[in-house]
Amino acid sequence: MMSAPQPRPEIFSIAPYVGGESKLPGIDQPLKLSSNEGAFGPPPGARQAAAEAALGMHRYPDPSSARLRQAIGAKFGLDPARIVCGNGSDELLTLLIQSYGGPGTELIMSEHGFSIYEIAGKLCGCTVVKVPETALTTDIDGILAAVTPQTTMVFIANPNNPTGTMVTDAEMRRLRAALPGHVLLVIDAAYAEYVTRADYEAGGSLVDAGDNTVMTRTFSKIFGMGGARLGWAYAPAAIADILNRVRPPFPVNVAAAAAGIAALAEPGWLEMSQAHNQKARQHLAARLTQTGLTVHPSEANFILVDFEAEPRAIQADAFLRAQGIIVRRVASYKLPTCLRITIGTDEECNRVATALAEFIHG
Ligand SMILES: *Cc1c(COP(=O)(O)O)cnc(C)c1O
Repeated sequence: MMSAPQPRPEIFSIAPYVGGESKLPGIDQPLKLSSNEGAFGPPPGARQAAAEAALGMHRYPDPSSARLRQAIGAKFGLDPARIVCGNGSDELLTLLIQSYGGPGTELIMSEHGFSIYEIAGKLCGCTVVKVPETALTTDIDGILAAVTPQTTMVFIANPNNPTGTMVTDAEMRRLRAALPGHVLLVIDAAYAEYVTRADYEAGGSLVDAGDNTVMTRTFSKIFGMGGARLGWAYAPAAIADILNRVRPPFPVNVAAAAAGIAALAEPGWLEMSQAHNQKARQHLAARLTQTGLTVHPSEANFILVDFEAEPRAIQADAFLRAQGIIVRRVASYKLPTCLRITIGTDEECNRVATALAEFIHG
């Protein structure tokens, strides 16, 4: 008998990434609040730019995404030569792990940190070390205590998904200063544009201050372009060089690149989206708190709502689905009593708040 092909055994320790669902049987247009995709869809200029660029899709894209890197650098005050673009920031996070991880190395992440670090880390043969959190927040001293001679990387989503909590600029600097120089610190700032607190910094200045910190960013959240798959990393020159060696030759397609440039140029988009998010998040959290639910503090475009018991969270999820609303269960993040709800438009927030009040009060 011929035996079937066998993958590397460590792959069986990986649970597949579970994305936010988008369909409900029997419901035409469900309200999807399960993937933090931004409240307003893509910026109008980005839609148009993608459509126009599609007419030229017989041509390969620019392998280095030069115009896009220039536009990102100009918008955020960063050196375009040290920006590397990717097919979503997930790709760049994975490339970093492939480049600096591997068998015999340890990757440190937070207990409820973003799942891609664990998936990519295990695939590369790294030992993934999860550090317990205090009040659902990354514990900087805990991370420092977990460092061993085998540690090569620390990954922190800031703000974190799915908890919504953040690490202050001062704490992140304290971490960087206390980590050994050879340990790569990766700050995944997918939600940076939503943060309004003055004690937050996305990570660009820490990247500039040394040779061992990388920041990743995405067009999938505040720019509403998750379907375009566009992310970027800002890195010290030597690490940007490594990423450019290992990345696919054409990671960013022509439509995504054109849409990204146009999105950055959309007048007032970031300001409008951030202001809406702050107000709507506060309002939704207040309404859910009034119904007796516990809402964890969030700096991002979602809130984590605690139903105190797992069966209650499952019931709430089912109740919302019956009303055509999809939110996100986060049991795979070891938060079985919680649901994560994306901040949508005012009308969408109102729908989910009304439905949950009905669920609680019967
Ligand atoms: C959504 C998300 C990403 C993935 O972004 P893509 O650019 O769409 O790959 C990365 N990190 C965190 C924490 C996220 O929530």
